[in-house]
Amino acid sequence: MDTDIDAKQLKLENKKLSREVKRLKKDNEILRVANDQTIHTQAYIQRDMTQQIFYNNQLLRTSPYILILTDDQLQTVMVSDVFLTYKQDYDKDQIRRGVPVKDALSGVIGESDLNIFLEKCEIALSGKAIEPYLIRSISEGNKTDWQISIRRMMDSNEKVAGLNIMFVDMTDMVDAMEQARAADQAKSNFLANMSHEIRTPMNAISGMSEFILRDSRDENARKYASSIKSASNSLLSIINDILDFSKIESGKMEVIWEPFDVTSMLNDVVTMTKIRLGDKPVELRLDIDPRIPSSLIGDEIRAKQVLINILGNAVKFTKKGYVLLKVAYEGIDDERCVVRIDIKDTGIGIKEEDLSHIFSSFTQVDTKRNRTVEGTGLGLAISRRLVELMGGHLTVSSVYGEGTTFSYSRLARIHDRTPVGNIEERMQEVRSEAYRAGFTARGTSVLVVDDNDMNLEVASGMLSPYGIDVTLAASGTDAMVSFSQKRFDIVFMDHMMPVMDGVEAMQKIRMMPGGDGTVIIALTANALNGAEAEYKALGFQDFLAKPIEAPDMERILRTYLPGNLIKEAAGVMASAPSSLKPSYDKVSKDDKEGLDPKALIDSETGLKYCMGNSDFYKKMLDKFVSDADFDMLERLYSDRNWDEYRIAVHTVKSKSLTIGAVSLSENAKAMEAAAKEGDSEYIDANHASLISQYRQVTEYIRDAG
Ligand code: ADP
Repeated sequence: MDTDIDAKQLKLENKKLSREVKRLKKDNEILRVANDQTIHTQAYIQRDMTQQIFYNNQLLRTSPYILILTDDQLQTVMVSDVFLTYKQDYDKDQIRRGVPVKDALSGVIGESDLNIFLEKCEIALSGKAIEPYLIRSISEGNKTDWQISIRRMMDSNEKVAGLNIMFVDMTDMVDAMEQARAADQAKSNFLANMSHEIRTPMNAISGMSEFILRDSRDENARKYASSIKSASNSLLSIINDILDFSKIESGKMEVIWEPFDVTSMLNDVVTMTKIRLGDKPVELRLDIDPRIPSSLIGDEIRAKQVLINILGNAVKFTKKGYVLLKVAYEGIDDERCVVRIDIKDTGIGIKEEDLSHIFSSFTQVDTKRNRTVEGTGLGLAISRRLVELMGGHLTVSSVYGEGTTFSYSRLARIHDRTPVGNIEERMQEVRSEAYRAGFTARGTSVLVVDDNDMNLEVASGMLSPYGIDVTLAASGTDAMVSFSQKRFDIVFMDHMMPVMDGVEAMQKIRMMPGGDGTVIIALTANALNGAEAEYKALGFQDFLAKPIEAPDMERILRTYLPGNLIKEAAGVMASAPSSLKPSYDKVSKDDKEGLDPKALIDSETGLKYCMGNSDFYKKMLDKFVSDADFDMLERLYSDRNWDEYRIAVHTVKSKSLTIGAVSLSENAKAMEAAAKEGDSEYIDANHASLISQYRQVTEYIRDAG
């Protein structure tokens, strides 16, 4: 019985054991597979690490840069092989074991650079970013320019592990940059010197041709001299622009800090802008802070140059709407303030992609659309740099198709703290002060004879402030009719008129009752040396050069009007105080050309001949356009009717000078001389270009550019 039980027991045990064996076998298999996998993974990792080490080694071996890895104590950990060519007394193992980075780099860069470098390393370790920077090291006469970058490394626990330092040899690049900079500097110096050098002889050429024009009786010589003069004048204005630009580029542009009157300065700017606006349906809006001090310290001429240029562009590129000049003010203390200028227009706008390069020199954008608009592309480049010289920064914002705003602000020193107040009222005062007549002569009467009605208007505008009774006559015959009806204290007689010229008309008047004792003054556009004696010999009392300038007119009136009728205007200064004088009195010739680079019309000259009165000037400009008769000129030319052609170009000469179209006037003058000579060769060679220039001037005014 017991054995039976034992056998049963054994069987059971046996079964259990075999189950256990099975399980162990299974576990063993799992372990074997796991082991295989581990071995596999290890092999993989091993391979990867070998590869990684291989690439790391390659990186260190082949990198053209000095790479240095340090620990957090600034001891080297590894370096690129290139480094060892600079430090041959070290080997890789030494470096790997750790050398202070200070020792490793000593001799590679100079001592002071090394100290700065170590300071930067400490800063980098503390967690501050270090911008890459350049140093120059010189060893054994060879220079090397290094760009150094220093980066902090962190380990997987976010603890500082050390630094990654890189030295890049930038010698070639820096050399190339220096060469380019030197070449650029040389170019700018060359341009500045050249323009200056050219300007001096150019002024001489222009001046000498003036002498020939005055002194020579030889018509041919005079004709050539006149062409030389006009060509040299246009060249001068281009050179002045380039000179301005290159002077700025080469750092030679000087800004002159002097007190200036804010109202007078803004008045000049506004006047010029109004003239440019002409008849365009564009409003000039002013928003000038009344708290602005009445006198600031700065370079008035340059400040005006910038404003006139930007406003000029605004006018050029705006067809309708408005142009706004906003001057805002922020006081700082008794001596300083910030002035902010915004010039906004509702013009064509500038495309976003063009905004970044409109300040580059010789750049005009959107040329397809603006092909009829003239310019050199230098204006904004000059303006931005001038603003920078004045301590500001010129910026632009624009929405294409809607308009553009140019802005800058600058710190200004105050000269007189009195606020300007209502600037428009003050500007009005400036205008009337500057041109008020020195006396009145009520009860006197004057006859002005000229076939050109524009000249008649100028003369009558000039005479009206004196309270003189003015009669106008458009021909010698009309003058005789007027003279037969009335007594005149002075007759102003144009010399060159069709049908009956001024000399003949004067002689006829002299024969009329009362004519003998009447003062007759010749008006002439050809005022030569000795003209006075010549006109006196002909029977005139005196002469006035055309276009007439207000002070000359006043001198003649004072001399010849009956003294008892002349009443000095109370409280009027013989000349306006300097701060209120119109700009052309203050601006030198060079600066005048700098202000208005347009070769077609020198509006300051025009304004001068229109008594500085912008409304009057605008009227004259309109008249110039409406009077322009190209067909008549063409007809006379094709009929080869040189007598009448001469009179027609004479009119062009005189009208264009009145509005400041100096070059056109000079060319018309040369044609007049040629027509007088019957020099058809010269006329044939120049007629087309005269007409084209005449058209250009007319279109320029019409487009109110
Ligand atoms: P330019 O003498 O040819 O006018 P600028 O340097 O003054 O030269 O201007 C460069 C270009 O910038 C212009 O040709 C024009 O394309 C653009 N520009 C300047 N001002 C304006 C403006 N107010 N509205 C639209 N375009 C403008």
